[in-house]
Formats: sequence, C-alpha cells, structure tokens
Amino acid sequence: MTDTISNPFADRPQPKPWIAAIHAYVPGKTTGLDGQPLIKLSANENPLGTSPQARAARHDAGEQAVYPDPDSVALRHALGALHGIGPDRIVMGTGSDELLNLAAQAFAGPGDDVVYVRYGFSVYDIAARRCGARPLVAPDSDYGTDVDALLATVTPATRVVFLANPNNPTGSYVGRDAIARLHAGLRPDTLLVIDQAYAEYVAPEDDDGALALAASARNVLVTRTFSKIYGLAGERVGWATGDAALVDMLNRIRGPFNLSLSAQATALAAVGDQGFVQASYTHNRTERARFVAKLAALGNHGLRPLPSEANFVLIEFTGLLSAEAAYLGLMNRGYITRWLPGQGLPQCLRITIGTPEQMEDIAAALTQMANAGA
Ligand SMILES: *Cc1c(COP(=O)(O)O)cnc(C)c1O
Repeated sequence: MTDTISNPFADRPQPKPWIAAIHAYVPGKTTGLDGQPLIKLSANENPLGTSPQARAARHDAGEQAVYPDPDSVALRHALGALHGIGPDRIVMGTGSDELLNLAAQAFAGPGDDVVYVRYGFSVYDIAARRCGARPLVAPDSDYGTDVDALLATVTPATRVVFLANPNNPTGSYVGRDAIARLHAGLRPDTLLVIDQAYAEYVAPEDDDGALALAASARNVLVTRTFSKIYGLAGERVGWATGDAALVDMLNRIRGPFNLSLSAQATALAAVGDQGFVQASYTHNRTERARFVAKLAALGNHGLRPLPSEANFVLIEFTGLLSAEAAYLGLMNRGYITRWLPGQGLPQCLRITIGTPEQMEDIAAALTQMANAGA
C-alpha cells in the first residue's frame, strides 16, 4: 500500500519502457494545412486504382455474419501457383506490416538487436522496439543500401535484419549479388527479412533473388504486399514466405482471422488479373522515366532525383529551392507529397508516380519554383 503513496506513477498501468519509447508511424497525409482534400501522392498508392475484377469480387465476397477462412486457403494457393511456392510456405498478414512485426516478435526480444539501414522503412524501428529489442541503424551509401556497412553493424546479439528492396523512402535497390553477399555474411541464426513491397515494379531481369533464397535458406523471410502494385492498400493484405519452420512460427502468433472476408475475396481476384499488374508496371516505368528526365534538367538548381526502382521518386534539394518550400508550393497547387524531416530527410521530398497529367503538372510546378529560386 505504501508503494502507491511513494511512487507517484503507480496509480496507473505502466507501459513497458520500450513501448513508451516508440514514435507512432506517420501515415502519408491526405489534406492540406487548412484541411482541404488534395491529390494524394504521399503514400505510394496505385494511380490506376485496382483491378475491376477485384472491385467486383469485393462486392460479392459472401456472408458477413460468418467468420472468414482463418487460413486464407484459396488465396495462398493462388499466390503459390503464381510464384511457384508451396502454399504451406505462405503466411498471410493484415498488410505486410503485421508480418514485419511478427517476424521481429518471434525471433527477437529484450537483450537482442534488430538491424536495418539508415533511411529504411519506418516500421522496422517500431517492430524492433515493440518486442523490446534494440534497433541498430547501419550507415547508408548516398541514401542507398551498403551491404558491407549493414554486415559491419550486425552484433552477436543481432537476431533480425530488415532490408526493403527496393527501399522506401529512397527507392534504392541492390541486385542479386549484393543480396547473396548479405545473406552469406549473416550467421544462420540471424533472420534476414527482405521486404519486397515494391518488387513487382522491378524489371524481371533485375530480380534480386530473394524469393529463391527464401525457398532454399532456413533464415530468409520475404514479405510482399497487395497495397502497392495491386492497388489494394485499403484491404490490408500482405504475405510472407520462407522456410516451413519460419512460416509455422508466424502462423502461431498472427491474428486467427487476420484477413477479412472482403480482403481474401478481393486479393484472390486481384491475383487472377495479372493484366492489371502488368499495366501498372508499364505505367510506372514510363511515367517515372519521363518525370526523372524532366527533373534532371533542374540539376543546376540543386534538384537531384535519386535512382528509383519503385513507384515513387525521392528528390534531394540542395539549391535555393528547399524541399520544404517545394512541398508547400506543391500543396498550394493541390498536391500532397511526402516531406520527410521526421525520418532525417528534411532535404528530400518523396513523390509517388501518379497519372501522366499529374506528373507533368508537378514537373512544371517544380521547374517554375526552381527557376523562381524559392
Ligand atoms: C508500403 C510498404 C509496405 C506495405 O505495408 P502494408 O502493411 O502491406 O500496406 C511494406 N514495406 C514497405 C517498405 C512499404 O513501403
């Protein structure tokens, strides 16, 4: 009883210190400073929307009063057939975010380290802290992934290494040799999580070999999502594949009915419409190349588009026009993009590849602002 009196904080539930240290994820904004809706190029969503077949399937998903299939069997079989993976080696998640968190939780905890690159996806920091592990950040190489620096950061207590490839927010990408070298440099008891949220935007000949590695190695987990090229961010569907023992662990701790009825039905139809995926891929490559070419002309004003293999471009601003001024200027013109001071990138703006008209408009606006020098 005296405890209650002597400890002024004992009159309420005490969060674990590692939980209290978490900064909540900051989602891409949808409105301007005065709350008016803006064209959203801040969350890497698909400008083509989603497959018409997926939209129709959502409408016909089935009886809402009944629990969905707890094991998402039809969806795992469809994904397995598409990628040549046994369905028993696929685990579904409420977005890949759930799976990234579960991977950290299953294999790391207090006293352990979780490693990822500087300017990595912000969920990794949350996932590491959520399970009580210590986040360790490896230095970048001109914003990109440096495999040697990543390996040098790994400690004897490192249980999980996260790498998004392509990476968000930088768009950077490392190839098959770098991924193989990273894997070869890790102890077999360290889990390598390769987050392939943007893998479908990469040219097939540039494949990083992560899925093949997940099929053969016991310590590699690959995560994928329906939020990006499939255009189903609102349905919250992700999946992971790796050794059966890894998949088994994640299955034990995921939500038992984690994929809703509409999520399963919609994603299943989306897998069946690879034409939509192909159209999205082509659209992205064409528009990204056009946009980057226009930005390249602004190099003398200090604008530098970083090489991107994803559906967005990170632009570095080192001239008179600052990233913040460009962000506010684009907002005035009706566009919300992603300015990233909270991720240590106040000099950068991330812009999702939108429609041809939007990208033309944005390139013109940046050109005008850069020429005006403010
Ligand atoms: C968008 C994104 C995801 C996907 O998250 P979901 O939870 O599947 O919507 C995962 N990793 C990275 C790097 C991303 O940018």
